[in-house]
Amino acid sequence: MTSVDQAATVTIPLLIDGHDVDGPITEVRNPARLTQTVGGYATGDRATVDAAVAAAVTAFAGWSARSAHDRAAALTVTADAIDADLTALSTLLTREHGKILADASAEIANTARTLRYYAGLADYASRESITEDHRGRIVERRAAMGVVAVIVPWNYPVLLATLMIAPALMAGNTVVVKLPDNSPLALALVLRRLAAALEPGVLNVVAGSGQDVGAALTAHPRVRKVSFTGSTATGRAIMRDASVNLKNLSLELGGNDPAIVLDSATVTEQLVGELVRGAFTSSGQVCYAPKRLYVHRDLFDEFTEAFTAATDTLIVGDGLDPAVRMGPVNNAQQHRTVTDLIEASRRDGARVTEVGQYRGCGPDDGYFIRPTVVTGLDQQSPLVQQEQFGPVVPILAFDTEDEAIALANDSEYGLAASVWSDDADRAFQVGRRIQAGSVFVNIHRVGASDPSMPFGGFKQSGIGRGHGEIALDESTEIQILADRIDMHANTPHPKKAQP
Ligand code: NAD
Repeated sequence: MTSVDQAATVTIPLLIDGHDVDGPITEVRNPARLTQTVGGYATGDRATVDAAVAAAVTAFAGWSARSAHDRAAALTVTADAIDADLTALSTLLTREHGKILADASAEIANTARTLRYYAGLADYASRESITEDHRGRIVERRAAMGVVAVIVPWNYPVLLATLMIAPALMAGNTVVVKLPDNSPLALALVLRRLAAALEPGVLNVVAGSGQDVGAALTAHPRVRKVSFTGSTATGRAIMRDASVNLKNLSLELGGNDPAIVLDSATVTEQLVGELVRGAFTSSGQVCYAPKRLYVHRDLFDEFTEAFTAATDTLIVGDGLDPAVRMGPVNNAQQHRTVTDLIEASRRDGARVTEVGQYRGCGPDDGYFIRPTVVTGLDQQSPLVQQEQFGPVVPILAFDTEDEAIALANDSEYGLAASVWSDDADRAFQVGRRIQAGSVFVNIHRVGASDPSMPFGGFKQSGIGRGHGEIALDESTEIQILADRIDMHANTPHPKKAQP
């Protein structure tokens, strides 16, 4: 795929041990134009999972013995191939996902950047510390784990998969990826490029339902680690299924991020524009989007008016249209969840303001929801307590900083948060009291967290940290090699005792 054909369809087989494997095809439709088929992908079953894991087990000895610099070279070659195909991959991602082309391009470009970032950690991946003295020697190193299962969500499929796969491969593991049920095509093409730069079996790709293929992978006795990004509900199922042989786990789960606008903030175009961008990028389907806004009562009316007016400028339609700023939501289930939350807010007597303008297509064509601002809800309302993952944002007022922090922390989620103030030091102080893995100051959108920054959630937003060097660490086991004299036994070292 090197040219951009906006009507082309792509059909993707599974990839096991370097070979294409056919299976029943699941069709992918354009969520902005449901009459348009974008392509299809082959699905597998438990037998396919067994075959993929067996291939990854066999490939492990060779791949883990390669130097980290060799492994890095494969990632760099793939990054170059992705860059060369940026337009075609981004166009496909927009057509299967619904996000606007600028965001799809950013996702693909960041995928190449992520591969290069992890390739750049070759020295870090191969580091060993050696302590040697009269008592003997201790080597501390990082060993690969074996087969890592990577299970991917649909919202940022290409980038999020790469953020899990690249550190796993750099650490010397072999990988079996389960494609997301929605928007798997651009990712599958990227994975084929990556697999082509590796020996057969190092990277295998399966697809199918989470309950069947995903669960089989999670419970597989030869899989040593599961890296999962997705919902908290699925994270719980994965933790349960992975317990059969005590797999290592990295879980990047759901979020319901608060944004706190302190009374020390000035309601500028910049501040409002940043929050609108954060809340409505990719129709709100971002794990760390601001999903509930808490605004100091003194600023509440001014902020709500400015935020609603700025949101009203969003043009909604097909993401391939360069004038469009927001596409549809990705799938029928997401459409239902978000519209149900909007209806529940109406029933609770909230003020629900739907804004934005359609252009080119609208609700009769796809899974469209207009950007929506909701006021008049209380903290216990479903739209405030649940992760909406869509283009609807509640705004609530608070009176004191302590109250704002308590409201922000009143959630089982703890992925990210933001604090907005003209006084950044003050905002950092408030941030320290928020239970979230990342707290941003005067920004809260895709791009606020760089691939080098450890990322993950408190509470039910996850276990472990992805991104950065820590993702490499979490793809390894610490191994100690030692030939030390036992000081307690007071006996001579066996080797050193020999004449
Ligand atoms: P999901 O949990 O429904 O699905 C994710 C993947 O898990 C899919 O591939 C699915 O097939 C698979 N799956 C489902 N049931 C399974 C099972 N029992 N065993 C194994 N695999 C199973 O999530 P989604 O709807 O694709 O993604 C949206 C969610 O992901 C949101 O909650 C969002 O906040 C979260 N998310 C979190 C992050 C993060 O970094 N923390 C990033 C992106 C998305």
